[in-house]
Amino acid sequence: MRALVYTAPLCVSLEERPRPKLESGEVELTVVAAGICGSDISGFLGHSRRRIPPLVLGHEFVGRTKDGRRVVANPLVSCGRCNACLSGSQNLCSSWRLLGMDTTQGCYAEFLAIPETQIYEIPDSLSDISAVLAEPLANIVHLFRIASPQPFFRMGIIGGGTMGALALLTALRLGVREVLVQDVSEERLATVRAMGATLAVNAATEEGRGEALHFAGRGMDLVLDASGSANARQAAFDLCRPGGLVVLLGMATEKSEIDFVTSIRKEHRVATSFAYTPVDFERSLALLKAGEIDLSPWTKELPLAQGQRAFDLMTKSPGDTLKMLLRVS
Ligand SMILES: [Zn+2]
Ligand SMILES: [Zn+2]
Repeated sequence: MRALVYTAPLCVSLEERPRPKLESGEVELTVVAAGICGSDISGFLGHSRRRIPPLVLGHEFVGRTKDGRRVVANPLVSCGRCNACLSGSQNLCSSWRLLGMDTTQGCYAEFLAIPETQIYEIPDSLSDISAVLAEPLANIVHLFRIASPQPFFRMGIIGGGTMGALALLTALRLGVREVLVQDVSEERLATVRAMGATLAVNAATEEGRGEALHFAGRGMDLVLDASGSANARQAAFDLCRPGGLVVLLGMATEKSEIDFVTSIRKEHRVATSFAYTPVDFERSLALLKAGEIDLSPWTKELPLAQGQRAFDLMTKSPGDTLKMLLRVS
């Protein structure tokens, strides 16, 4: 089969690979279209310790079963037996694995093997572009479940990439009163303004940062860091009101400093959010089926054979593209 293999940092190439062998309980899917995720990009850049070449990356996809059903799949496979799994926190499973990570083949290939329990049939009315969002949006559903914001909350979002944009669209569905978005790309700021952000400011400028603090006033009730850079993490705390909640999602850097004394005096609450459970995945899919979340105007599509170009575009000049889709078959 044809597969896009991550062969070295900044390099992917189309290669002939053996078709996956099925383990017990697994089914083989034909991959139709696959999304490029921020975590795949971090792998491609050589920043991920769990994505070591040679590896077929990718975990967001639409596929078909042997009997012709169109499906998406929850790519986070958990054991189903440990305490975390049994208590409904499959994202914290002691032995979770993800497509396109460690030794598990990802979805940038013609075929893949996955436990049958992970797949969900989807209607033809759900486009490939929308269906591929089931996985990234599940992360956002999960974090809002953790944050459980109060009615009429005010929210800050640091980072207007795919995750920040999906968080914005979801917050609007939840009845957020005002949303402030910070990013360093003018194109992304324009995009989140079009999506309904109350204020979108450029955090690379003194003026932008000042505008954000002025808008926040006493501070926002909930601030999400969807970036993970050191500056972004601190900005999330700076914009949070006393007693408010900071949710850390971005993983751009492993370690960074936070002015904790200021945060302690403000009694900031801090939560981290990681991945999603099957329940989150199902809720995410339901939102997409209902047409309530849509990134199609900001989605670009390229054939799998142009994988190198797709990754180069997303790392060097994504412009206003929030999701890159690879057409596999
Ligand atoms: Zn993803
Ligand atoms: Zn488990």
